[in-house]
This record gives sequence, structure tokens and C-alpha cells, in this order.
Amino acid sequence: MTVFIVGASAAGLYTALFLKKAHPEYEVVVFDRTDKIGKKILATGNGHCNLFNQRFSGAFFNHPEFVEALLERHSAADCLAALSGLGIATLVKDDLVYPLSYSAATFVKLLGQVASKLGIVFHLGERVLDYQTGKRIKLMTDQSQYEGDQLIFASGGKSQENLGSDGSLFPVFAKHGYQIVPLSPSLCPLETKEKTKAISGVRHSAKVTLERNGTVLYEEVGEVLWKDNGLSGIAVFNASAFLARSKQNEATVTLDLFPEYSESELEKVYQSAKSRGFDPLESLLETKLTNYVKNYAETEETKQICRILKAFPFHVTGLYPFASSQVTSGGIALSQIAQNCFSKIENNVAFVGEVLDIDGLCGGFNLGFALLSSLQVVERL
Ligand SMILES: Cc1cc2nc3c(=O)[nH]c(=O)nc-3n(C[C@H](O)[C@H](O)[C@H](O)COP(=O)(O)OP(=O)(O)OC[C@H]3O[C@@H](n4cnc5c(N)ncnc54)[C@H](O)[C@@H]3O)c2cc1C
Repeated sequence: MTVFIVGASAAGLYTALFLKKAHPEYEVVVFDRTDKIGKKILATGNGHCNLFNQRFSGAFFNHPEFVEALLERHSAADCLAALSGLGIATLVKDDLVYPLSYSAATFVKLLGQVASKLGIVFHLGERVLDYQTGKRIKLMTDQSQYEGDQLIFASGGKSQENLGSDGSLFPVFAKHGYQIVPLSPSLCPLETKEKTKAISGVRHSAKVTLERNGTVLYEEVGEVLWKDNGLSGIAVFNASAFLARSKQNEATVTLDLFPEYSESELEKVYQSAKSRGFDPLESLLETKLTNYVKNYAETEETKQICRILKAFPFHVTGLYPFASSQVTSGGIALSQIAQNCFSKIENNVAFVGEVLDIDGLCGGFNLGFALLSSLQVVERL
């Protein structure tokens, strides 16, 4: 049997490795439009590759029920066991799972070494353009045509085109009858109406609340990083997932800059600094942020300042572009995908990883889904 896999990043590599290990007699051929395997993996987890999460569950995804159904067939423990079956050891830091080397580069190198030992064939620098199903699968690339038996798309979303996934296959999937849930950048900074250049680069721990028309869409305490024209940081990235999924750009992010204090406790701290002759704001915030709050508040009155510090509003005007996003929200509609990740509308075609309408939060969930979905496909083959 000849199996074609489109995409030599997380989902494609996992699928190829698990499949060839289970069926050494299969011919497994992986195509990627870039000239290297695992290009995006190299950028993950700040170069450390946060590949899974010990608390992996459907709750961290846009479609919890789909992920839970996959987990019933292959648990989180199965996912990690599958990795160790390839000889890949891991380490855990606060529930986040990394390769033991704590290095995305050596992880990709290891995957490449296992792949070449197993005899997986790579066609790198070759873009898949289209395909035909029928008695056999026909795959058309920018260089040639191939015939095989099974076709697995691990072609990702549209985030960070420079790392490979450019979304160019979605019109092809649509032509084949797939519904495409509209794509949006996710896990990305948020653009705000407020000009934030003066505090660009400043970090402060805060409770981030994303709301629209009085409804809270997401809330998390984490470090906020201001950008030239908006907000970033992990809690903001996670909030962006909820904005992306809602398919509406406008919302408000309210920052509680001192979540550990009630408003009246904060007033006491502020007042006490004031009475000692300190600049009370500078005793609470770093200088650039102090000046920013002062300009915004136009008063030094304790109650008003503390109210702002507890609920500093930023009006979101949109998501940063795909080039700044870690994942893509949207993709192949799950209504057309069976729980083994094979297509319901075409024979011998499957989809794994981010190409599907599945997006997870920060913390190893997206690479984790690439792993989980690849196990489903391999089981059926
Ligand atoms: C900076 C950054 C940091 C991240 N950090 C983490 C993290 O720490 N933990 C985590 O879980 N997730 C992280 N992610 C998200 C994670 O990397 C992705 O969710 C994951 O890589 C998706 O895997 P995939 O194989 O489905 O798709 P992709 O990794 O996007 O791979 C798709 C592949 O398909 C190829 N391809 C596409 N179209 C074609 C075509 N027509 N022909 C041939 N080849 C094609 C592309 O070149 C690409 O190599 C991060 C993402 C980024 C950008």
C-alpha cells in the first residue's frame, strides 16, 4: 500500500512515523512545500517545543466533544506512549510536556533520524496542487503526478506562512466539496483602539477579561505584554482564541493590574505610599506604565486611580494578522470528518492536525492535537 501524506510538520511527521512503524511494508511518502521537515516545530515553545500537556482534554479546544471522542479511542497516556515508542523521551514542567532535550531543534532532528531509519520517503520543496480520488488516489504536485492508495492531509492552517502553512489548499478542499469554517488568526496579539506605543515592551501581571456586550468570553491571570498598537502575552493569546472563534473582531479587554488586591486594599496601599511622600503610582508600576496611567486618568485621586488599576479598559479592534498568530481558527468542518479523522465524503482521504476546524489554547494543546489525530488515522490503516 502506498500512503501519501501532505505536510512534513507535526501532524504529518507523527502520522508517517507511527504508520511506518506499525506497517514497515507500506510505502509512506511525505510531501512538503518547504525544503526542511518540521520547520514550524522549530519555532514552538520559544525553541523548546511544548509538545503536549498533562491536563490534555477537550476543554482546551473549540470543539471539546470531538477531541473527547478521539481521547476515548486514544488517551493522553497513549499519545505519550506512542512518542516513547519512537524512542522520544520527555520532561514535564508544570504540566507542560517537552522533549527531554528541552530543544525543538534536537526534537526535529530525532524525528528525522527515526524517519530515515524507518525508510519514510520525503519529497521536500514540492507543493501539492490537487488530487483525484477513485480506484486509486492521484496526487498532482508542482513537479509531477503520483498514484497511491491513501491520502492524508496534514497541511496545517494559514499561520506564519514563512514556516510552511499558507492555506493554499483550502480552495482545493472546497472544490472537492468540503465546507471550510472561515479561517482567522488565533493565539495572537490583539489590536486596540488605544495607542500603546508609549508602553510597548512593558510587561505586567494582570487578570485579563475579554468581554463583549457585558458577556465575559474569557478570563485568565497572566503576564501582559504591550505592543505598539495592542496587547500580547499568553493570557491575551488565549483570549484571542475566543475572539477568533466568535468570528467578530470587536470586544473589550479589561485588565485588573492587581488581581491579588481588592479595590479597597489597593486604595490603602496607594494611600500609604502617598502619605510617605512617594509617587504612589510609581510604587506600584514601572515608570512607563505609571506615566501611561497618569495620562489616561488625568487625576491622582486615590479612588479614581485605583478603579482604573482594577479595571483598565482596552477596546479591541481586531486580531493581529496570520503572520503573527501561532494557530489558525477554522478549517475543514468536522461534520464531514469521522472520528478516525477520515473524510465522510471521499474514500481514502483523511485530515490530521490544524487543517481541521480544531484549535486549542496555549500549553502544548495544538501539537498535542496533531499527535492525537495522527493516532486515529494510523489505527484505521
Ligand atoms: C511561533 C509558534 C509557536 C508555537 N508554539 C507551540 C507550542 O509550544 N505548543 C503547541 O502545542 N503548539 C505550538 N504552536 C502551534 C503548533 O506549531 C501548530 O499547531 C502545529 O505545528 C500544527 O501542526 P500541523 O502539522 O497540523 O500543521 P503545520 O505545522 O502548519 O504544518 C503544515 C505543513 O504542511 C505543509 N504544506 C501546506 N500546504 C502544502 C502543500 N500544498 N504542499 C505541500 N506541503 C504543504 C507546510 O509547508 C507545513 O510544513 C506554535 C506555533 C507557532 C507559529
